[in-house]
Amino acid sequence: MESRQLVIVGGGPAGLSAAIYTARANVDTLLIGCAPKVAGDYEIDNYFGFPETINGRELIERGKRQAERFGAVLDCDTVLGMHHGESGGFVVKAEKREIACKALILATGVARLAPKIPGLADYEAKGVSYCVSCDGFFHRGQPVAVAGEGIYAANQALELTAYTKDISIVTNGKKSEIKPEFQARLDRAGIPVIEARIEGLSGEAGLESVRLEGGRELPAHGLFIAMGAAGSGDFANTLGLAREGAFIIADPEQRTNIEGVFAAGDCTGGFLQISVAVGEGAKAGRGAINFLKKGA
Ligand SMILES: Cc1cc2nc3c(=O)[nH]c(=O)nc-3n(C[C@H](O)[C@H](O)[C@H](O)COP(=O)(O)OP(=O)(O)OC[C@H]3O[C@@H](n4cnc5c(N)ncnc54)[C@H](O)[C@@H]3O)c2cc1C
Repeated sequence: MESRQLVIVGGGPAGLSAAIYTARANVDTLLIGCAPKVAGDYEIDNYFGFPETINGRELIERGKRQAERFGAVLDCDTVLGMHHGESGGFVVKAEKREIACKALILATGVARLAPKIPGLADYEAKGVSYCVSCDGFFHRGQPVAVAGEGIYAANQALELTAYTKDISIVTNGKKSEIKPEFQARLDRAGIPVIEARIEGLSGEAGLESVRLEGGRELPAHGLFIAMGAAGSGDFANTLGLAREGAFIIADPEQRTNIEGVFAAGDCTGGFLQISVAVGEGAKAGRGAINFLKKGA
């Protein structure tokens, strides 16, 4: 498996700022993340140093070039999951690569919203879950469903094969965006992808079935939510990071409750602005440098 000192997840202002600091301090830095939302034709009028305003795309391009100048490796890939390594450190699984690293900086922006599924909140902790590696075990040998339309959902479904063979993916009305390579793996595992809306959940003490449009009842002891791409909340679940609502809790030095994991920018909440994300990225970078210097 590929090995790095540091993986930064997120290619927005926070992740790029962190990469500038760590790569400049000679830390072997891999940043995974594609263009953030702000990298479009938006005029950024309130960021220090640009009296005539700067275009969001141009600002991010400049940040990327600066991080690369110091040796950071930038990869536009999607992180599907991460977990603690067996002999310390962390393992980050992206769509195209899997990396072992000693330190992590999460800079994934604002967390995703839960999908609009009637009754979802009523079944949280009673079958509805946001984390296969946390809760898959509770559904051993039982029918389960994964709500999602992309490769994040596909990966969660494939992880569930460690616990049960009866797995379905339901796209909740979206068109499947699962790429052929993942679709082939789902086919081999006998996991159907159902392009239907979820209209409700039912069960007495816990979840028993998912009601699809058209009235079909899909038996489900567990429903794993994996809409869109994996975000900071999903990573927090698998790593055991403390959260407040959707946001990762970080101290003033951007340290999380797990040694070696730092978080910066919008994923930590607060004032969601570029200047704040850049500052927090710098502090997370410094924290990672010091952590790695200690000989992690
Ligand atoms: C349209 C728009 C206009 C804005 N205008 C302004 C403005 O004028 N001034 C201002 O100060 N702020 C503005 N903001 C807010 C500002 O953009 C954010 O506060 C800032 O970008 C936060 O930076 P971040 O690095 O924390 O997160 P983001 O910029 O959101 O970056 C998150 C990064 O994480 C990556 N990521 C997420 N999940 C994964 C995954 N699973 N795998 C790999 N990568 C992942 C994304 O691809 C992205 O690269 C604007 C925001 C938007 C959307």
